[in-house]
Amino acid sequence: MAARLTENPNVRVLLLEAGGADTAKEVRIPAAFSKLFKSNCDWNYSTEEEPYLNGRRLYWPRGKMIGGSSSMNAMIYIRGNPADYDGWKRLGNEGWGFADVLPYFEKLENRSASEPQGTGGPLNVCDLRCVNEITRAFLAAAEEIGIPANRDFNGAKQEGAGLYQVTQKNGSRHSASDAYLKPARRRSNLAVLTRAHATRVVIESHRAVGIEYVRGGAIQRARVEREVILAGGAVNSPQLLLLSGIGPADELSRASVHPIHDLPGVGKNLQDHPMVSVGYLSTKPVSLASAESLSNFLKWVIFKQGPLTSNVAEAGIFLRTREGLDAPDLQMLFGPAYYVNHGLDRRKEHCFGFGPTLIAPESRGSISLRSTNLLDAPAIRANYLSTDAEMRVIVEGVRLARQLAHTMAFQPYRGDELHPGAHVKNNDEIAAFIRAEAQTLYHPVGTCKMGTDTLAVVDPRLRVRGMQALRVVDASVMPRIPAGNTNAPTIMIAEKAADMIREDSNG
Ligand SMILES: Cc1cc2nc3c(=O)[nH]c(=O)nc-3n(C[C@H](O)[C@H](O)[C@H](O)COP(=O)(O)OP(=O)(O)OC[C@H]3O[C@@H](n4cnc5c(N)ncnc54)[C@H](O)[C@@H]3O)c2cc1C
Repeated sequence: MAARLTENPNVRVLLLEAGGADTAKEVRIPAAFSKLFKSNCDWNYSTEEEPYLNGRRLYWPRGKMIGGSSSMNAMIYIRGNPADYDGWKRLGNEGWGFADVLPYFEKLENRSASEPQGTGGPLNVCDLRCVNEITRAFLAAAEEIGIPANRDFNGAKQEGAGLYQVTQKNGSRHSASDAYLKPARRRSNLAVLTRAHATRVVIESHRAVGIEYVRGGAIQRARVEREVILAGGAVNSPQLLLLSGIGPADELSRASVHPIHDLPGVGKNLQDHPMVSVGYLSTKPVSLASAESLSNFLKWVIFKQGPLTSNVAEAGIFLRTREGLDAPDLQMLFGPAYYVNHGLDRRKEHCFGFGPTLIAPESRGSISLRSTNLLDAPAIRANYLSTDAEMRVIVEGVRLARQLAHTMAFQPYRGDELHPGAHVKNNDEIAAFIRAEAQTLYHPVGTCKMGTDTLAVVDPRLRVRGMQALRVVDASVMPRIPAGNTNAPTIMIAEKAADMIREDSNG
């Protein structure tokens, strides 16, 4: 957003980032992303006790640094299904159908996977440099059980099995910051303040006139000439609105925040993709277990080659688990690694793992204030897997993972099933395992949804309804979660918003 808006020298942007720089080597080295978890680059959130997951509090990493979560994500690049955006449009969001958003995906991408020279946008999207041999077995396994190969999940068809395209450049992460912000940093009309935590939108007569933020322990204020744009992500943008007195008036009063504007949908409509890990020992020493070595580090530092260029989840499958769906409801991730508990449970042995993920969730959660302390985390309620239909999909995903693991293609690699383990057999046992182990696939969206109904927070031009000079531009505005990973759709939203802001200020 900041980079696009400051292309116009008459526009001045002040970008506030609560975290610091994105220079840690774990940000740059693709395979190291999970090492950022629970570090000072992470908001390190937890949900409240999840009612359908045995009352567990689930860990939610979110990037707290320049580039946000695009600086710590797994770099999988998926536009989503055309039906996702056509669905947004059907919900009353004129201008957000697939035909409307496709030009923005094309604008943002430099896809070397489809064009040898790239397609010219700022964000590099390419094939992995180094694909593990077990990942090749996964692709062969999918073919063996009749799942068609898909060479381009962002092409004509999303379904099938294939390697992911990744947001990397020359074997390093290519985040939103690398693609957009860094090339714009020298512009005199762009100021970037790190360690500046926005705590309140300053409002006069329903107009946003500035922003209050904490920096170096002191509260500071910046006044704006044009508008305030919130881009804190699906947890923090609704929190900032609530702290500013914009939200459900009764809820605000209960939280001792003076309601300025009654907007019942703020923090509602939270959606995410739940995932569960199915892990196996590998009988061959080929996984990423031995990737962390001095020689591989030097290979990465000097040549930007080798296993450290892996994004861990190297390949996947998209499929529909039943007839009549207009888009896939199951995504199967695959990685040559033991990825249980966000990769925080480490094992020395070589392993491989599947991540069946529900990508058409019906459950809706919420973000609400836990306290009026401006720096406290909000309460996150995801309500994962609140319906039997959702559970059915993910149980089928676990069964599919096992079916894949028992193909001829995996024969040379398959050791014992570690997670959940062969003792978990029937659907009830698998469902119990899922309730005990499901985690986030890190895609929360929807908490400041765009639309025209009473629960819409922003209108289809992303302006906060009933307010002036205040917009939200991030994953929180998605009315419904796309059937795929959410980084590409978020950047698309920012590209489109930049155009709308330009048009609105001209108009
Ligand atoms: C571990 C992980 C893995 C993921 N893997 C993938 C993947 O492989 N592919 C994919 O497509 N998607 C992936 N995602 C999701 C994707 O990265 C996000 O959907 C996307 O980055 C959301 O963008 P956003 O702008 O809404 O929020 P964010 O990227 O979270 O950005 C919000 C920014 O605002 C800052 N901020 C928040 N509150 C304040 C405040 N009050 N004051 C100042 N600054 C503030 C934050 O520090 C952050 O920099 C992953 C996410 C995570 C966490």
